Amino acid sequence: MRLLRKYLWAVAMSLAVATGGHAAPLVEPILHIKPDASGAGRVALTLDACGGRTDTRILSALVENKIPATIFVTGIWLKRNAAAVAIMRAHPELFELENHGGRHIPAVDTPQKIYGIRSAGSPQAVLAEVESGAAALAGTGEPAPKWFRGATAEYSPAAIAMIRKLGFKIAGFSINGDGGSLLGARETTRRIAAAKDGDVIIAHINQPTHAAGEGVVQGLLALKDKGMTFVRLDDADGFGNNGTTD
Ligand SMILES: [Zn+2]
Repeated sequence: MRLLRKYLWAVAMSLAVATGGHAAPLVEPILHIKPDASGAGRVALTLDACGGRTDTRILSALVENKIPATIFVTGIWLKRNAAAVAIMRAHPELFELENHGGRHIPAVDTPQKIYGIRSAGSPQAVLAEVESGAAALAGTGEPAPKWFRGATAEYSPAAIAMIRKLGFKIAGFSINGDGGSLLGARETTRRIAAAKDGDVIIAHINQPTHAAGEGVVQGLLALKDKGMTFVRLDDADGFGNNGTTD
């Protein structure tokens, strides 16, 4: 009996060491679009709508200045922001809606916390997050999404492979415009205004009370003044690392 218990304990310990030791590090993929070369350059603006409300400062500026954007929406955000969705749908030439997951749960198939958010934690939960996000978009009558971006934009390599198998490209970025919407207006403006030909910018459109939103608007206007063109992910040749687009 005692021997058996000792044996089981040894097996349990070796399993714990094996899974702990083999947990692959998370990746934060980079995405670029094909540079324009001939003109003043082009960038792709991607905005996450994780949950919460809508930053109408940004939404109005996009409409008024005819700046196209790819909006990554969650099922949670879609439910609570019908007015903003209606504005986006009224301007199909500007807005492309893509999949940010059903419940804003990081697409990581092992249990852990990323920026304080609990990961999906299993392959099944990653699948559920991706598929429920796509279903929520389909439910609003939007075209089927082609791109996925997980909450926190960090992934386990196994999750990336699963999401690719489902047919989605994974949207990394090359410029972190607003630091999760936590940066000040001035620093956000500086980061976005510094975008170069071929860059993919990430920022947030769901934090109307944060100073970063004002910086997003100012940074975009600075790019527009320089003659930079904006393209949506659907209209650009996006290429990412870590197997996210190929
Ligand atoms: Zn998010």
